[in-house]
Amino acid sequence: MTAADDRRIEVLVAEDEESFVEALIVGLEREGFGVTIARDGLEALRLFDARTPDLLLLDVMLPKMSGLDVCRAIRARSSVPIIMVTAKSTEIDTVVGLEVGADDYVAKPYRLRELVSRMRAVLRRAPRPLEPDARAPASAPPALPLAEPPALVLEVGEVRLDPERHECTVRGEEVQLPLKEFELLEALLLSAGRVVTRDALIDRVWGLDYVGDTKTLDVHVKRLRSRIEKDPSKPVLITTIRGLGYRFEAPRRH
Ligand code: CA
Repeated sequence: MTAADDRRIEVLVAEDEESFVEALIVGLEREGFGVTIARDGLEALRLFDARTPDLLLLDVMLPKMSGLDVCRAIRARSSVPIIMVTAKSTEIDTVVGLEVGADDYVAKPYRLRELVSRMRAVLRRAPRPLEPDARAPASAPPALPLAEPPALVLEVGEVRLDPERHECTVRGEEVQLPLKEFELLEALLLSAGRVVTRDALIDRVWGLDYVGDTKTLDVHVKRLRSRIEKDPSKPVLITTIRGLGYRFEAPRRH
């Protein structure tokens, strides 16, 4: 239902697993994206230069040149949104730890819907040299992963948050949170167990009002920790993922 005059978003997918390639071509084209496939790292670089895609979906483990090296090479000359795809949780640490310059990551196996919403989120955040009406089709508004606050109570481990009543309970005790800290905690709880990037947190909690320096987020995280962590100097609920963002630790279920 994409209008004919909408410019199609072109995605370069660097992926060497055939089952993923086929599913991505079908799924992403159905969502209105144009898809180009690179099956190794060198081909990814070559096609990136040839096609100048709007977004890069980059598997970490690629033949000939790793996704990490491809990411570094492209980041050195372009600010194109890059989403890394990891197959193992150990790779997540590598992606996050090495600060290769990716905008986000997804871990295999992922749901197409989740991938698409992350793609739209990074595209929305990316500066785009296009007219406003040439962005995403009006019929498919960008869906941020952290879009709407749910009416439901959020409960993860020892923290319980009721957005409707603006109430927070930690280890059974009510905790008073200023608005920004409340919203910050809500954003982290909504993605409990996953890294939420600094940009995503700033977007959600401050949006266009974010005029402070880059330390504002860290200051609020520090204050939030002082209210909910047993030992704020050794946080175990909200952990820092260096170079990327923060994660609310979800207790293991098994
Ligand atoms: Ca691979």
